[in-house]
Amino acid sequence: MEKKCSKCLIIKDVIEFNKKTKSSDGYRSECKSCQKEYCDKNKEKINLQRLKYRKDNKEQLNLKRKEYYLSHKNEEKERNIKRYNDNKSEILERQKTYNDINRDKRNLLAKNYRSKNPHIMGWRYILNNSLKRLGKSKESKVAKSSNVLLFNKGTISFIHSTF
Ligand SMILES: [Zn+2]
Repeated sequence: MEKKCSKCLIIKDVIEFNKKTKSSDGYRSECKSCQKEYCDKNKEKINLQRLKYRKDNKEQLNLKRKEYYLSHKNEEKERNIKRYNDNKSEILERQKTYNDINRDKRNLLAKNYRSKNPHIMGWRYILNNSLKRLGKSKESKVAKSSNVLLFNKGTISFIHSTF
């Protein structure tokens, strides 16, 4: 089947046209190369339109995405598991490399935190020692809750530990 492009007016085979379900013959009125030319010329305009569309239809699009996710939940899950299994060694290797690279960084951050918050570390030390004296290990619930009770200038405040 052949079709005349509405832009360049050249008669071309329909494979030169992108599909458009809403049009009467199922194809766009302009050929692929004209469409591409238009896109290249109006990149910014098209991007802005797309952004505006997304912004205007945010809730609707979010809802659609949610619906899609819910109806494809199991497929997605299976795909993720399959992807993980297929690339297991690669993923683990990447994680290991990431951890190796960031170990120094993490240690440095912890060191900085300790030197900037000596009072917290001090209280933690006291807390841990007290727990030890009471016969509880460091891994007990109190320490694990990561809320360190801090007596600060007469007030009692809970400092949420970053550790
Ligand atoms: Zn054309």
